[in-house]
Amino acid sequence: MSRPLRARIRTSALAHNLGVAWRLAPGCRLMAVVKANGYGHGLLRSVAAFAQADAFAVLEIEGAVRLREAGCRREIVLIEGLFEAGELPIAAEHGFSLVVHHEHQIAMLEAARTEHRLRVFLKVNSGMNRLGFAPERVARVHARLDACAAVSDVVLMTHFANADDELGVAWQLERLRAIPGSRRLPWSLANSAALIRHPLTRCGWVRPGIMLYGSSPFVDEPAQVLGLQPAMTLESRVIATQDLRPGERVGYGGAFTVRKPMRVGIVACGYADGYPRHAPAGTPILIDGQRTRTLGRVCMDALFADLTDLPTAGVGAPVVLWGDGLPVEEVAAAAGTVGYELLCALAQRVPIDEIHD
Ligand SMILES: *Cc1c(COP(=O)(O)O)cnc(C)c1O
Repeated sequence: MSRPLRARIRTSALAHNLGVAWRLAPGCRLMAVVKANGYGHGLLRSVAAFAQADAFAVLEIEGAVRLREAGCRREIVLIEGLFEAGELPIAAEHGFSLVVHHEHQIAMLEAARTEHRLRVFLKVNSGMNRLGFAPERVARVHARLDACAAVSDVVLMTHFANADDELGVAWQLERLRAIPGSRRLPWSLANSAALIRHPLTRCGWVRPGIMLYGSSPFVDEPAQVLGLQPAMTLESRVIATQDLRPGERVGYGGAFTVRKPMRVGIVACGYADGYPRHAPAGTPILIDGQRTRTLGRVCMDALFADLTDLPTAGVGAPVVLWGDGLPVEEVAAAAGTVGYELLCALAQRVPIDEIHD
C-alpha cells in the first residue's frame, strides 16, 4: 500500500460554494479568484468547478495561458497586472484583462503597438497601502488609460484591509467617494469577507477567493454557519503507535514530556506535506472520527497525536488533519495563522483524490 496521506477534493463543494457567493451578489459579475493554484486545490480543477463564473483571477501570466490552452474562454484577469512589458503581447493575444496599479504599467500600455483592446481594472489605494493609485490621482490616470489604443474600458478596483474585522470597510469607501464621478463608474470591491459582511460592496465585479474553497475569512464565524462546505480534506492514517511511561519525551528536542502513561500515534503527515511546523502541541486533529490533539514538534514526514483516550485507534486508524469535521481555520488558529496559508501550502508531493458526488 502506498503512503496513506491524501488531499481529497470535492468538486461539488467548490460548485456549492460558488452558488453561495452568487446568491450574495445577485446582478453582479463574479470573478472567481484562483490564484496560488486555486488556493492549493489545483488551477484547472478549480476553474472547471467554477465554470459558471464570469471571470477568473490569476497572478501569473503562465497560469492564464494554461487556462486558455485548456479551453477556458471566459475572461481572465491578471490580478497584479503586467510585471514586464514583454507580457503585454501575450496578454493581448489571449485577451486577458489587466489590473493597472502603478505608473510603470500605464507606460507599458501607452507604448503598446497592438490592435487588441484590453479591459483594465484600475487599482485604487484606498488605505491598504499595498498596490494602487492614491484617490486624488485616479481621475488623471483614468483619462490617460481611456486615451490608450490598447484599452477597451476601465473598471475601478480597490482592496480592503479590514473587511474581516471590526474596523470594516466604511473608512475605505469614504476615501473612494472623494473620487470625482466615482458613483457613476463601474467598480470591483469585494473579496470574500466584504461580500459576506458588507452589503455596500456588492456591486459591479465581486472577487471572492477563500469562501469558494469552503473556508471562512472570519475568526469569529465558522464556514459551516456561512453555509460553506470545505472542498479539501487532508487525510492520512496512523502508521505506528508508542506506549510511553511518565518521564519519556516525544520527538525532536524532546519538546513534549509524558506525565502519565500515554499512547501516542505517529501520523503520516509532516511539514514537507504542508502541515505547519509551528503548530504547537495541542493542535486539534481527528483520529477515527474523534477529536484529539497533536504532541511535540511536527517532523518533516510525520507528526505525533495523543491516542490515550482512543483505545481502539491503532495502526491504520483514519486521520483528518483538516477538512470534513475539522475546519482548516481551527487548525490554522491553533498554529497562529489563517486557513488560507495552510490550503495554499499543500505540498506538490501530496496526491490529490478528486471526488465527484
Ligand atoms: C486574493 C485576492 C482576492 C480574494 O480574497 P479572499 O479573501 O480570498 O476572498 C480578491 N482581490 C484581490 C485583489 C486579491 O488579491
